[in-house]
Amino acid sequence: MKTLGLYIHIPFCVKKCIYCDFLSFPDRFGQCEIYFKALEKEIERKSKQFKHYTVDTVFIGGGTPSSVDTLFISNIAIAIKDNFKIAKDLEFTIESNPGTLTRHKCLDYMKVGINRISIGLQSADEKILKFLGRIHTYEDYADSILAAKTAGFKNINTDLIFGIPGQSLDSFKDTLHKTVSAGITHISAYSLIPEEGTPLFDMLESGKVPYPDDGIDREMYHYACEFLEKSGFEHYEISNFAVKGCESRHNLKYWEEKEYLGLGLGASSFYDGKRIKNTTDMDTYLKGKDEYIEDIKIDKETEMKEFMMLGFRKTKGPDPADFKVKYRIDMYEKYRIDLNILRGKGLIDFKLEKGKPVGFPLTEKGLDFANEIFERFV
Ligand code: SF4
Repeated sequence: MKTLGLYIHIPFCVKKCIYCDFLSFPDRFGQCEIYFKALEKEIERKSKQFKHYTVDTVFIGGGTPSSVDTLFISNIAIAIKDNFKIAKDLEFTIESNPGTLTRHKCLDYMKVGINRISIGLQSADEKILKFLGRIHTYEDYADSILAAKTAGFKNINTDLIFGIPGQSLDSFKDTLHKTVSAGITHISAYSLIPEEGTPLFDMLESGKVPYPDDGIDREMYHYACEFLEKSGFEHYEISNFAVKGCESRHNLKYWEEKEYLGLGLGASSFYDGKRIKNTTDMDTYLKGKDEYIEDIKIDKETEMKEFMMLGFRKTKGPDPADFKVKYRIDMYEKYRIDLNILRGKGLIDFKLEKGKPVGFPLTEKGLDFANEIFERFV
């Protein structure tokens, strides 16, 4: 039986952060009830196509799923279990933000089988949190961690951002130290990319705040890699670090081109060789009809390239054994020229067995210039 990941999108947030271009609304809580009804119907409707799949990961993301009443989340969890075949070792994640998470909410999540929680901290520096427009303080984060742990969560992720205008290397180091001392199992640390259309982008373009220094951004990244590895986290994806065995199985599906179904406003899916994206228009979504802004069948050549590009997000690179099973072609034979060029540039290594390449891990240089690798497979 094939396996499937489920992504559920919750597009509500208390307030919009200045860097955010995710599909989320601070002023639509009044639509919560009808949104969740539509979501339940979508689960019922679409699950029918997936009777021959077992769901082994669920990720409730957003937005801020912890900003809505837990009853909505519980009903979604029940609808998933009622409509899909669920694996015994299901990884079930919910995203949350400090300031919206309580011990009661955490207990409710645990009751319906959620066993992994992601808490968005971004920075432990109050000035930076304020600048980003976050609704919480560092203390709120510490309270959230306590709430999650006392409720019984053992697998906890924290999201961090670096390369923020005004953020010093010391400020980021302090954030990393505090995050590690919180005793969590997973850290995602992303370099800030100012997205067009966000207030931050306008502030940078108009010169109101200076663009972050590229050199400091890299110093922060290198420090995070070194410090987190020393602290017992394995660096398994460009921006992700995990205690052994706590890698995000759901996110690995994206990087390993495994199948997933996205449910909710603007959610993306990949299955049967198709990439699909739900409508991003709330009124259209609430009508309960399946409307897509993307619905494309990917040809095999493109799919193989995507496999390479996404696989190179992982520090150990795309898996040649998986590639062989999926496409019945040897990865090295297929991409010999590209792989040799990338090795020549010092961006990847060849892991050899009996003189034959069996893996293509990223080098330190490759981690910094991953875009150069991706570009070869566009
Ligand atoms: S909490 Fe997350 S999703 Fe919501 S506005 Fe901030 S960055 Fe965007």
